[in-house]
Amino acid sequence: MDKCSFCGRDKGETNLLIAGISGHICDHCIEQAHNIIQEETRNKSDFSIDKIQLLKPVEIKKFLDQYVIGQEQAKKYISVAVYNHYKRLMQGLPREDDDVEIEKSNIILVGETGTGKTLLARTIAKMLHVPFTIVDATVLTEAGYVGEDIESLLTRLLQAADYDVKAAEKGIVFIDEIDKIARKSDNPSITRDVSGEGVQQGLLKLLEGAIVNVPPQGGRKHPEQKMIPVNTKNILFICGGAFDGIERKIGQRLNTQIIGFSASRKRDQINKNNLLQYIAPQDIKAYGMIPEIVGRLPVLTYLQPLDRQALRDILTEPKNSIIKQYIKLFKMDNIELNFKDEALDYVVEKAIEFKLGARGLRSICEAMMMDPMFELPSKEQKQLTVDLNYAREKLEQVNLKILKAS
Ligand code: ADP
Repeated sequence: MDKCSFCGRDKGETNLLIAGISGHICDHCIEQAHNIIQEETRNKSDFSIDKIQLLKPVEIKKFLDQYVIGQEQAKKYISVAVYNHYKRLMQGLPREDDDVEIEKSNIILVGETGTGKTLLARTIAKMLHVPFTIVDATVLTEAGYVGEDIESLLTRLLQAADYDVKAAEKGIVFIDEIDKIARKSDNPSITRDVSGEGVQQGLLKLLEGAIVNVPPQGGRKHPEQKMIPVNTKNILFICGGAFDGIERKIGQRLNTQIIGFSASRKRDQINKNNLLQYIAPQDIKAYGMIPEIVGRLPVLTYLQPLDRQALRDILTEPKNSIIKQYIKLFKMDNIELNFKDEALDYVVEKAIEFKLGARGLRSICEAMMMDPMFELPSKEQKQLTVDLNYAREKLEQVNLKILKAS
């Protein structure tokens, strides 16, 4: 009679008994062993700074290149900022004879929605083994007034760090839609603007590196919860926003600068179709961010709108591109899936026609692949080639306009 070599249970007393070379193990013991492993690894926190390999900026950018198409300047700036952030974390306590303290370089990314801001932040976090969270600045505006709500931004970070405060204190917070807390008017005295300026003042505290009391469960729903003090000094903040219409501010600034000196030469050099590349901190300020916040986000970079080629590359080039994912999904059912270039060009065409951007690529592919994903797993067919006709036929059945909302 087979027995578990660990607990001695007979086969009949177990749900499952697995045979090894010279023994057996039952499901109870597997579960127990699994718990022990989890317990052990939890103690050796995933987020230990010793584990961090200090990649050089060029290597960090190479890593980003695998996932993010184009956006060269943003990738370069982020690589440098992250590298310096690490050096900061490793500098430890300043020695007495060394009063050069490296300051934190929080980042602000400006670019239309769907150009890869969140993707960049996510990819960096994937590489870094530090707790990472994405929060949305718009919730701050909605809540109306400041105080606690700002602190609850860090609740999510604490959760991402499994409430390991030390780890959270070295984490990265991506604050999306930062432009939504801009002052509505450049002139603070015109209207009382509770949402914008008040929230920015609150946020400033986090960016400055204060110690803040974080409600571990967030929000105001649990008034009894004990606050956890979190030091934000080493937390890297990456802010992203579309800053709709900021080109106008950039244009105005460039125009006034040009009038001053060597006007004709400078004007020639400016590419009016792509003003974003000239973005400077003053423009963010003119848009309605308070100067203190602008000062605390010293690394300012932009993301380009994605052109046809970029959209086409996004389909197939990133390490986990949409198309690679479908091929893998089908392979799990032993189905060989191929895409003809013409079909992929057609997908891009539709994304452009319906102004769906990069985010729309996924919805379009999903619509195109729905029937085969539904049907093929129960069929004998072991091969599918998606060509232009196939793509057309599938996509003509769907109303692409409705994808816009997604
Ligand atoms: P944003 O934060 O700028 O609004 P996201 O980063 O959320 O945009 O982009 C939405 C999706 O579009 C991403 O998940 C990704 O699939 C795709 N995408 C956008 N930009 C890029 C890019 N430059 N390279 C690769 N994929 C991209």
